[in-house]
Amino acid sequence: MVTSWYDNYNLFTKLTFKKSYNATKVYAGFYWSKLTKKGSIFGLPLSITIEPTTACNLGCPECPSGLKQFTRAEGNLKTDFYKKIIDEVQIHAFYLNFYFQGEPYINPNFLEMVAYAHSKKIYTATSTNAHFLTPQKAEETIKSGLSRLTISIDGTTQETYESYRKGGDLTKVLEGAKNMIEAKKILKSKTPYLIFQFLVVKPNEHQIEDAKTLATNLGVDEIRFKTAQVYDYQHGNSLIPTIEKYARYKKHHDGTYRLKNKMLNECWRGVRVLLHGTEK
Ligand code: SF4
Repeated sequence: MVTSWYDNYNLFTKLTFKKSYNATKVYAGFYWSKLTKKGSIFGLPLSITIEPTTACNLGCPECPSGLKQFTRAEGNLKTDFYKKIIDEVQIHAFYLNFYFQGEPYINPNFLEMVAYAHSKKIYTATSTNAHFLTPQKAEETIKSGLSRLTISIDGTTQETYESYRKGGDLTKVLEGAKNMIEAKKILKSKTPYLIFQFLVVKPNEHQIEDAKTLATNLGVDEIRFKTAQVYDYQHGNSLIPTIEKYARYKKHHDGTYRLKNKMLNECWRGVRVLLHGTEK
């Protein structure tokens, strides 16, 4: 197992002088904007999100990819377009969040793209449903230099797992995770840092402890429990968990649900720009 300390160290190694200087300017701009209550941008993006594909083999009920309900261009990201973007941002960006909606491994050039970002000293993180992690893909993943891999687990029995991951097969997920762990051992690699992500919804909330045990027994580096966003929550939703800690919504006296957390009047994450660099 790899500690989160090593993962942080790996991220730190991506900080060249220019990237560190840019990060300092970005944070200075953020705090200056808060202080003056006027938007000021001093640096360029230090972290970017790119979606390798919009396609997915599963049909999760709260995901546009699973529901096939996109209102934007669909398909796989083109490699030449992607490389052009990386060439432009690599001077100042050190973190690539390489997924959004869609299963990254569906793009046949995904690992080539990861390797390209890695060669430009960019930390790469992605998230998968792990249905394509054969022993060969696991080995290729390690060789690509991927820094972090999140695997969606969401249940310790097939029935619970597929209650949210529609069309998914838990056996494949567990095999995929085992293939990654085995390949890391064979190649003596500390990367990618392997995370199990358990999206807590009402049908699986009783398996939280089982999921922790499963993660420990398999030997993944970390397990994280995430709250779920649901689109229709005002009048309740069968996915909203009963464990308050894992619910984003709270029931009010009038019987309606509202977001638990206050929306802050500030933008800390950035602006999403959708790029039309996809191919069918
Ligand atoms: S596995 Fe991920 S991308 Fe696929 S439908 Fe589910 S949430 Fe969407």
